[in-house]
Amino acid sequence: MNKETKNEVTFFTFDLLKNKNLKHGFSTRLGGISTGVYDSMNLGFGRGDSDENVHENFRRMAKALDMNYERMCLSKQTHTTNVIVVEEKDAGNGIKRPLPYDDVDGLITNVKDMPLVTFYADCVPLFFYDPVNEVVALSHSGWRGTVGKIGKVTIEKMTASFGSNPKDVLCCVAPSICKDCYEVSSDVAEEFIKAFGQENKDRLLRPSIFNPQDKDKYMLDLWQACKLVFLEAGVPEENIEITNYCTRCNPDLFYSHRIMGANRGSLAAFISL
Ligand SMILES: [Zn+2]
Repeated sequence: MNKETKNEVTFFTFDLLKNKNLKHGFSTRLGGISTGVYDSMNLGFGRGDSDENVHENFRRMAKALDMNYERMCLSKQTHTTNVIVVEEKDAGNGIKRPLPYDDVDGLITNVKDMPLVTFYADCVPLFFYDPVNEVVALSHSGWRGTVGKIGKVTIEKMTASFGSNPKDVLCCVAPSICKDCYEVSSDVAEEFIKAFGQENKDRLLRPSIFNPQDKDKYMLDLWQACKLVFLEAGVPEENIEITNYCTRCNPDLFYSHRIMGANRGSLAAFISL
């Protein structure tokens, strides 16, 4: 994972997706025009920041990533495992016209020059690229999405719609909350044991660092869980790249829901053929 800055806009890129037939990036707080709790690269509409600011931030991101702002296609995330294929008619969704869908946590396309965009502040951003069939995808894997294995859902949909072989697909995990920052309660921990099996319990869950005496609190490793999901989908280990940047550990670089609550901006993932 590389940290890059262009026109004062700082973003992250993956080694696995470098020098491929695509453009991609994950935003930081740096390089936008928003102020206060949105300082400065807020990419979330409807969070209390002005729409004009958010549009200008999108234009700056598009310029830094060399992407087409007017043809961007945005998600409408509600912690589901709904992943849809978007087509030429979807270019501009959320930018040039209101979103025609709701409850969409993952986007897939083979349309060129139509950047997909998904939103984050601690939840796990997943990037996908099938270089054989020229297909890209993004999905939003919070704890609910990870329990629902949205990474696998995304790959299965790429296979069903475009014939993608999981062995060819490159999968990347962008900056999000790390295993030393993400405390969950026992009901969430139980969901992970149910989804990933008792044999993976020690790999995903540890006693709480913050409340070591509380038997109902655990530290959860969402990055490891997402890796298990990719492997279960049939993706080879060498096709997986996982960030080492935590959104909660780096408040100067990222918005973190765990730190800021709802009064914050949104980070975004971008990928475009
Ligand atoms: Zn952390």
